[in-house]
Amino acid sequence: MAQVEPINAFDDNYIWAIRDTDKKQVWVVDPGDAEPVLSYLAQHDATLCGILITHHHWDHTNGVAELTHVFPNTNVYGPQNSKFKGITHALRNGDSLTVFEHTFSVLTTPGHTLDHICYCNDVLCFTGDTLFSAGCGRLFEGSAEQMWHSFKLFSQFNDNTLIYCTHEYSAANLAFAIAVEPDNNDIKAHIEWVTTQRKNNLPSLPTRFGIERKINPFLRSDLPHMLHHLPHDVTVNNLTPWHNFAALRLWKDQF
Ligand SMILES: [Zn+2]
Repeated sequence: MAQVEPINAFDDNYIWAIRDTDKKQVWVVDPGDAEPVLSYLAQHDATLCGILITHHHWDHTNGVAELTHVFPNTNVYGPQNSKFKGITHALRNGDSLTVFEHTFSVLTTPGHTLDHICYCNDVLCFTGDTLFSAGCGRLFEGSAEQMWHSFKLFSQFNDNTLIYCTHEYSAANLAFAIAVEPDNNDIKAHIEWVTTQRKNNLPSLPTRFGIERKINPFLRSDLPHMLHHLPHDVTVNNLTPWHNFAALRLWKDQF
């Protein structure tokens, strides 16, 4: 039976470990640093057997070379169009792969970067820097239109699906979410929960689509009231279906 556990890295990254406790084998998602992964493996007397990469950014990939040096049989899965050159198994939209008892579908989710992919099934979903709790990744390479389409893909997953994203950004994202929707009681309740978790030095993750559908402004962007508190200096001059999403992303950039 596999369990998913966080490995802390840098200031606010989580490298997610998928560990089969019987086989003593581990897969990791987005190892930006090898050292904390090696410590985790030693602590659990486990072997690394696979790596999943969501996108090319250094804080998601810099540990791969050392980890595959120490564990040469480790397969590295990642997007076929990535700038990161350490991928041994290139993936496209709709591909699937199996990690212990889990079979994941590959979703291409451009926006944060052009190569970004997510690994999802109905139980758990690794969203990298695409979907954060109460937020979404910055648009470094892609457009608001692309990210809006990427977010639409998450509608296929049920409310109980667990979401494992890469950064502990929940508190800052919720501060923005409550500015967008000052009367949203689900956001208020979640702020209290996240505050308690962080006070106790516990992650605010994983989250679930059921919660995110109530609190995440970017999953809720199509609702008609989402721009009621938009600052006057944030303007998006188009009448596209992703107009609200684009305006919220611009607002968040300056928030
Ligand atoms: Zn990134």
